[in-house]
Amino acid sequence: THFGFRDVPNDLKESLVRGVFSSVASSYDVMNDAMSLGIHRLWKDHYVSKLDPHGALRCLDVAGGTGDIALRILDHARTRYGDRDTSVHMVDINPEMLEEGKKRFAQTMYHATPQIAFDVGNAETLSQFADNTFDVYTISFGIRNVTDIPAALRTAHRVLKPGGVLSILEFSHVDNPVLAKAYDLFSFNVIPELGHLLAADRDSYQYLVESIRRFPPAEKFAQMIRDAGFEVAEEEPFERLTWGIAAIHNGVKL
Ligand code: SAM
Repeated sequence: THFGFRDVPNDLKESLVRGVFSSVASSYDVMNDAMSLGIHRLWKDHYVSKLDPHGALRCLDVAGGTGDIALRILDHARTRYGDRDTSVHMVDINPEMLEEGKKRFAQTMYHATPQIAFDVGNAETLSQFADNTFDVYTISFGIRNVTDIPAALRTAHRVLKPGGVLSILEFSHVDNPVLAKAYDLFSFNVIPELGHLLAADRDSYQYLVESIRRFPPAEKFAQMIRDAGFEVAEEEPFERLTWGIAAIHNGVKL
């Protein structure tokens, strides 16, 4: 069965997305490894190294999920720079995903320090945060799930300080046609099947595959970031990872 997702009204769509992540919350980390053959870890390592957070930054990690990015940011600042003043505020629309993140942080040295905070919230509004609050805004494999992506980008611009950096890691599109065909076969056949076998949940993983398909190509997404008011490099507006399966987009609020 496939969701006819385009035809679904927005409020229902939002609750469907919530449902998907509630049903996958506990199996989420295992499934990430299985579906990406562990490659998502390398992408995330590269994403945070490239961002190179340090110097008592206030970071906001939206759609933070189980904390993969927040933890990497704090570890990077501490191990490379001895920086224990950089902090990450994690936000997710789904309390169950956030719970998994809290459990994970409880095992780390950041637990119950000012370096980490958690909040339920919607990327489209982030109504609990004032304008010009953060130095860095990250969102990793989250923005394609947001119903109104332009609203989320405008909100990112609102909560960042002038000079603040927006950094997005998201699935993208393979440009080589032969590889694209192979990737399509893998994602439409193998991933829902893995979802069925490992998490007894074919539909949620079918949804994930379809959401990747619907997400705009990198060139178009870079323009959407510009349209929200960000400065994006003309020369290299994005970086493709692994043939374009994923991409990193950065923007600066001037
Ligand atoms: N950032 C983590 C990572 O890279 O592993 C988690 C990514 S997970 C694929 C997507 C997350 O986006 C889920 O935790 C989901 O609850 C969250 N999400 C979906 N829509 C959202 C929204 N409108 N606002 C905030 N979070 C949202």
